[in-house]
Amino acid sequence: MWPTQREVAAGDVVIIWQTRELIQPLLITPGKDFNSRFGHYRHSDLIGIPYGSKVTSRNGRGFIHVLRPTPELWTMALPHRTQILYLADIAFITSWLDIRCGSRVIEAGTGSGSFSHSIARTVGPRGHLYSYEFHEARAEMAREEFVRHGMQDIVTLTHHNVCKDGFTVENMADAVFLDLPAPWEAVGHAKKALRKDRLTRICCFSPCMEQVLRAVNALNEAGFTDICMYETLLRPHEVQQLPTPLSLDNVVSKLKRLEKFREEKRLRQIANSKRKREEDSDIPEPDKRARIGEPDTARDEGGSRPPLISDPHIPPKADDEVNEATVSWSRVCHEVRGHTSYLTFARLVPYPAETSSNGETEGLTTTS
Ligand code: SAM
Repeated sequence: MWPTQREVAAGDVVIIWQTRELIQPLLITPGKDFNSRFGHYRHSDLIGIPYGSKVTSRNGRGFIHVLRPTPELWTMALPHRTQILYLADIAFITSWLDIRCGSRVIEAGTGSGSFSHSIARTVGPRGHLYSYEFHEARAEMAREEFVRHGMQDIVTLTHHNVCKDGFTVENMADAVFLDLPAPWEAVGHAKKALRKDRLTRICCFSPCMEQVLRAVNALNEAGFTDICMYETLLRPHEVQQLPTPLSLDNVVSKLKRLEKFREEKRLRQIANSKRKREEDSDIPEPDKRARIGEPDTARDEGGSRPPLISDPHIPPKADDEVNEATVSWSRVCHEVRGHTSYLTFARLVPYPAETSSNGETEGLTTTS
């Protein structure tokens, strides 16, 4: 899936990261240009640069980052042909359907292929994704993308109405994911496609509660068990830099430093005035008078008299005080946005092999 070499090559699909909101895919085609409000770039300028590079524009109007695609970046950048699944749902579904390296998974419909890319990476070359889409143009575009991204050996895309015609495989899938307007119409077909020699799982993705209830009824009637529903919601955290509240230890050490500083200042003052007194007693009487109100030339002109010991007014800061000046705080926002759909999960539990009246094992069956 996707190129693994270090440098960008002609024909690669790269992800152009402009801002957090502006991320787009680009097929590197020598001779073509890429223009955006962040400047002007020639595709040929990008060939040979290492993935992850920051590239400045030819007209000096900004810069872009050129990234290697991953399923996560693809979901953020892909051209939308339908509503798509986002990462929070994809991660949750992958985990709850127990999809792993080597799994055989069915999805319907393919839509824009957001879910397909993540699942193809998870199952890898030892597993397989059977993807179904009844909209012909969408199916064709998704197929082209899967080939361009090197996924053709992992994904089989079929242009098919799964509610009417069912799936093309039987008794072999580990998991089924239905992102359809009427998933309950495909539940019976999904049951046929799931393998019967081990526990398998299904998930229906439905935007409203009425559809959830219909899906739950269909799953119940088909003999699925452990039916449960989840909704994944993203709760943003607001991060702020605030001044550090002082701990008791901080306060104590700060007071000790202040006390030490005052004592040193007092001793410096005593030493300075003692030295002045000694100097004054050496100077003849007229000179002493003349010096009243005059600048201390010896000191000001860097003369032979040693300067007075410095007398700063601000106690020095300790290192820990500097480091603890601010701290990052994270506050959970109370408003939770981002309802996508409800996720209804169920399991199909294999029943022990049944023995027929003539004593022969008829194989694993499920109740319905
Ligand atoms: N999960 C996809 C993704 O992440 O990009 C988005 C799927 S989109 C919401 C639903 C897709 O199901 C549409 O492309 C639609 O054409 C397809 N569809 C609807 N009914 C179908 C059916 N009976 N058989 C196959 N595909 C169907």
